[in-house]
Amino acid sequence: MKVFVIGSGGREHALVWKIRQNPHVSHIYCAPGNAGIGELAELVVLAPDNIVGLLQFAQQQQIDLTVVGPELPLSLGLVDAFAAQGLRVFGPNQRAAQLEGSKAFAKELMQQQGVPTAAFATFTNLEAARRYIHTMGAPIVVKADGLAAGKGVFVCATIKEALDASRQILSEHVFGEAGNTIVVEEFLQGEEASFLAFTDGTTVLPLASAQDHKRIFDDDRGPNTGGMGAYSPAPIVTEALTQRIVQEVMSPVVNGLRQRGIVYKGILYAGLMIKQEQIKVLEFNVRFGDPECQPLMLRLQSDLVDVMEAVIDERLASVSLSWDARPAGCIVPAAIGYPCAYDTGAPIIGLDSLRTWQNGMVFHAGTANANGAVVTKGGRVLGVTSMGADIRAAIAEAYRAVEHISWSGMQYRHDIGRRALIHAK
Ligand code: AMP
Repeated sequence: MKVFVIGSGGREHALVWKIRQNPHVSHIYCAPGNAGIGELAELVVLAPDNIVGLLQFAQQQQIDLTVVGPELPLSLGLVDAFAAQGLRVFGPNQRAAQLEGSKAFAKELMQQQGVPTAAFATFTNLEAARRYIHTMGAPIVVKADGLAAGKGVFVCATIKEALDASRQILSEHVFGEAGNTIVVEEFLQGEEASFLAFTDGTTVLPLASAQDHKRIFDDDRGPNTGGMGAYSPAPIVTEALTQRIVQEVMSPVVNGLRQRGIVYKGILYAGLMIKQEQIKVLEFNVRFGDPECQPLMLRLQSDLVDVMEAVIDERLASVSLSWDARPAGCIVPAAIGYPCAYDTGAPIIGLDSLRTWQNGMVFHAGTANANGAVVTKGGRVLGVTSMGADIRAAIAEAYRAVEHISWSGMQYRHDIGRRALIHAK
């Protein structure tokens, strides 16, 4: 069986690593991949938004299963293009991917399905947004409607900040067409958790819980990033809460889409704010979270390819997932300057010493090979991921491994798992 994975992050390295464990998989291609993925798969020089090129490649190589990592190709209709040619592909189609590609679409669907979320209004007109912001007061949150590489959300402490954000998005077009509409919503307090589930459009099969750390600096300071670390399970997501999230969030969304003629197949990811048993949805993603995917893949004992095939064939009701009971933690060493401008091309030292690491994996994100060395090529560079007897041990082990690694301009958070450790006390 030939598998084609699209993407180049820690998420895709973790997926490739897990897919390789299926005994029927004979060859994995990855476009464009990274240095770590290149040790497990054949890299293909095609960008994730080159739908025509990716389709041609999949047809030429007679790929049996394509797995899409990031959201952009999903929003661009990769799944529709592949399926139209009879290719099997794991991920939601273009209409389903609107759940992430348009925050206004997601909010309206939630409203219609009675899914708990922050009070909101959508605007294309700056003056109307201004009036609403003045009425609601601060703190308040302003979001670009479309995909903005994780940068389109402004959590505003003052009315002035909210007005500035609205103007930048609607009038100055800082996110281009992704900012033709804004969502202005109520500021929510609580603890965030990521809830991921496989779905075939009918059945919702939750993954183990996970939590990530979005801010760049310790103590949740500084700007939001793609994620500086993660762990699984998330103690705040109890068994009882899991059932409620399926019943109150995931199933209503999947059913609401089906009522609109959209069969959602793939991973459905809800970013949640939880406060004293109250659940509210912050956002939906239409793919695995990165870095959450990394601890999740380390803990998943079931065969990933089998589950993905069941999703495609709409027979998820007959599948269950088994997990390693041990928690896993993931630390993301990043390039200094990230999430703003950063340097690339720095040789990474210490990777070889972790090749025989028993308890974890160093998943690569922004890395490349240059003159025989592995060098940095992105903001988030690695996902150092480990299991342990408990969450404290898992995270301590991951930090021990991080200490073996260095490059000029490496930064990482020192408090990954902090909230889990508070629960664990
Ligand atoms: P999103 O991409 O919508 O999940 O937003 C990114 C981050 O912004 C979230 O992970 C939260 O930390 C924060 N955020 C988004 N919406 C809200 C909200 N309504 N209230 C408070 N924080 C929010």
